[in-house]
Amino acid sequence: MTKHNLWEWINQYEQKLNDIALNIWHKPEVAMKEEYASNLQASVLEEAGFHVKRNIAGMQTAFIAEYGDGKPILGVLGEFDALPGLSQELIAARRPIEQGAPGHGCGHNLLGTAGLGASLSIKEALEKGEISGTIRYYGCPAEETLTGKVLMAKEGVFDDLDACFTWHPAPITAVWGSSTLAMNSIKFKFTGIASHAAAAPHMGRSALDGVELMNIGANYLREHIVDAARIHYSITNGGHEPNIVHPEAEVWYYIRAPHREEVEEITERLKKIASGAAMMTETEVESQLLAGCYDTLSNRVLEDVLYHNMTEIHSPHFTEEDYQFAEEICTSYTQSQKRSVMQTYHAPDYINRMVLHDSVEATFDQGKIAPGSTDVGDVSWITPLAQCLISCWPVGTAPHTWQSTAASGSGIGLKGMIFAAKTIAGGLYDLYSDARKIEQAKMEFETRTKDNRYRPALPV
Ligand SMILES: [Zn+2]
Repeated sequence: MTKHNLWEWINQYEQKLNDIALNIWHKPEVAMKEEYASNLQASVLEEAGFHVKRNIAGMQTAFIAEYGDGKPILGVLGEFDALPGLSQELIAARRPIEQGAPGHGCGHNLLGTAGLGASLSIKEALEKGEISGTIRYYGCPAEETLTGKVLMAKEGVFDDLDACFTWHPAPITAVWGSSTLAMNSIKFKFTGIASHAAAAPHMGRSALDGVELMNIGANYLREHIVDAARIHYSITNGGHEPNIVHPEAEVWYYIRAPHREEVEEITERLKKIASGAAMMTETEVESQLLAGCYDTLSNRVLEDVLYHNMTEIHSPHFTEEDYQFAEEICTSYTQSQKRSVMQTYHAPDYINRMVLHDSVEATFDQGKIAPGSTDVGDVSWITPLAQCLISCWPVGTAPHTWQSTAASGSGIGLKGMIFAAKTIAGGLYDLYSDARKIEQAKMEFETRTKDNRYRPALPV
């Protein structure tokens, strides 16, 4: 079974993969509730002869499927969670199937299914004895809350991997060379003393005052942190009726920065601001870290492996109908909206004039930072990892929108998914066939991580 036969095997299996991705698209489930998607994928792998371990790290929807034995052990990361409020019909206009229900606005129905397809095709090659080693597919829940892979990492499930691949649906096809922002999600809960706001305000100590003064302090902090850092908050409890001095209030912060240490430093400074606000208002404050993830460490050796496979496969073959759908979606953006979305990918300017990116772009974003966060970052600090972006959405489509939800269930998304499955399968095949590539990837990883070993951000 040559690599081309591997890709042919994926062609033969295409309808089955499309069905899996579409079934998951039609039953969107939010983080930690992905029962249907997780069971569907785990049972397909189990039936194919993979050894499946479910309920990983206390998460019912996390699973690991493994086939083969011995070294190398190569991993594929899959995701399948949807986003709240993004329910959308499979049409090029905003129309929820059910108002307020979830939808696959990040295309994780495609993400996980492509990884599953790649893993199944590698199993075929292992079975024929053409390559040897172990393939492991990780069914990772709750990417959107940045918890699934962090909790799995705490259990050490990625520790013995020799290398790992993943990908993400996008409005462009290229190796994903940029990093992402490390992040903490943390809540601050203030506790004061209730009293009658008109008759005895002097008897009360307002927790809401604590929250508001903390936010003012945080807004002054912004000038004195690194440029690429981001602080956002929402008041999750602002008290009840105004005639009560509020005894309880809560604010929820996201802190992002290019490096994990910067996020940790900013978090410590924010905690000081919270303590200062509590002191000023004579209230108490306690913080709770909900989630924390790493920035993504690229691996040039593995990225090259993916890139060569992408150029060999050419690109997803979009049909006339796909182009028409993309054009209709594109009418919902202005040219400047389109450009600013593509700038977040650092995409070359000429792509903004297209409706669908249908070729393979040479890598253009190495050393840059994509302004979002993902728990893939955590895995990239444990084992050499590379990922690619594959055209599944019209040019200018941002993730987490009705447009990306619709495209993730369309022919565009499905064709991108098959291209992703082939890219990852080809990349894995190259690594099984050439142990030196894995050694080079590990050397690069060692050089970049030797002074900064991985520590999961959640309390152990
Ligand atoms: Zn995503």
